Amino acid sequence: MQIKTEKKLFVTKLHGMILLMVLSVSVNAFAEEKLAYSTWVHEFKQEALEAGISKRTVNATFKDAKLLPLVVQMDRAQPEFISPFLDYLAKRVTPEKIEQGRNMLQRYAGLLSDTEAKFGVPANILVAFWGMETNYGTNQGNFGLPSSLMTLAYDGRRASFFREQLIDVMRIVEAGHMPLQAMRGSWAGALGHMQFMPSTMLQYGVDADGDGKVDLKSSMPDVFASAANYLRNVGWKQNEPIMLEVRLPEQFDYVSAQLALKKSTTEWKTLGVTAIDGSDLPESERAAILLPQGWRGPALMVFPNFEVVMDWNRSVNYALSVVHLAANLVSDTVLKGGAEAEAGALSFNQLWALQLKLNALGYDCGAPDGFPGLKTQSAIRQYQASQRLPEDGYASPSLFERLLSD
Ligand code: CA
Repeated sequence: MQIKTEKKLFVTKLHGMILLMVLSVSVNAFAEEKLAYSTWVHEFKQEALEAGISKRTVNATFKDAKLLPLVVQMDRAQPEFISPFLDYLAKRVTPEKIEQGRNMLQRYAGLLSDTEAKFGVPANILVAFWGMETNYGTNQGNFGLPSSLMTLAYDGRRASFFREQLIDVMRIVEAGHMPLQAMRGSWAGALGHMQFMPSTMLQYGVDADGDGKVDLKSSMPDVFASAANYLRNVGWKQNEPIMLEVRLPEQFDYVSAQLALKKSTTEWKTLGVTAIDGSDLPESERAAILLPQGWRGPALMVFPNFEVVMDWNRSVNYALSVVHLAANLVSDTVLKGGAEAEAGALSFNQLWALQLKLNALGYDCGAPDGFPGLKTQSAIRQYQASQRLPEDGYASPSLFERLLSD
């Protein structure tokens, strides 16, 4: 949660491969910084004490904590390729994951329906997040949170965020929710079945089984209630649509397909948009259309609840996958617009080159970073307009070919 999952999963895969490389390079770098590090720890401990954490907890937290070069490497790792949406989806929403999720819906039916009644978040959505985050609890991570968070706080990138997370680990221990030894999770500091960051756990964690503790590792009532409480608090609206595959008319203006461009479904209907099977769109005042794999790929209409899913994780591909998994947990759902989608992925380096080229041509991507963010999409649309191409803003292999063989 709240850490880009795409990167997280990618990095997990590379885990073994980079380990050797990391140990030889970064340990030396750390050694040179050792003195600064001990000063840093001393100051951090002071800060924790001033934040009201007891000396006992502060000392216990730092007693076995150590800098983890692997965490630094994971934090800095860049994916070689950005997965196209349909590849991303196929890898994460597998038949096995769907089948397991359906089993979980049955196994926890009573608990999930109580949670739904209390928080207004449907069972299939909760189980879909669970499946995406940790494969139904089987992959919660085994990094000691004091070490991983201390490393990220010390390393500097987003240091203040991770400092706060580490202090929140101590607050969780102080409050007696979970013992320090149980505070283990992902390399990025997310914990439990739903991969909550410590601050999210403190803010939204619910003690649903009534034992006086919020336990996101071994109490399923607490796990489901906490996730539902989070989603409700960030705006989940019961009984409202989330996402729907749509059919666009021939002469559709692809510039309209952007998450930030909302129209009522009445307006979309006027423009000729229907559900994929030709049926009417549901009523909504705020619907956007996404083309996650360009104008030839599936077109997905998303509603305000989709933005709640994106609040959990900022990746569009992640959010679309959660919702697609959730739909499949209750009935077989296949995206019909996938067959024509342009396949293939640009590498990180190709994207960087694409950004340089667009900048050179006067289409502003901002500083190149190898990721097809909003500014890059907008620059691509401007270029596409100049070439009378469909303005979908998608960094496709064919666009790359065209631009870099100009
Ligand atoms: Ca509890």
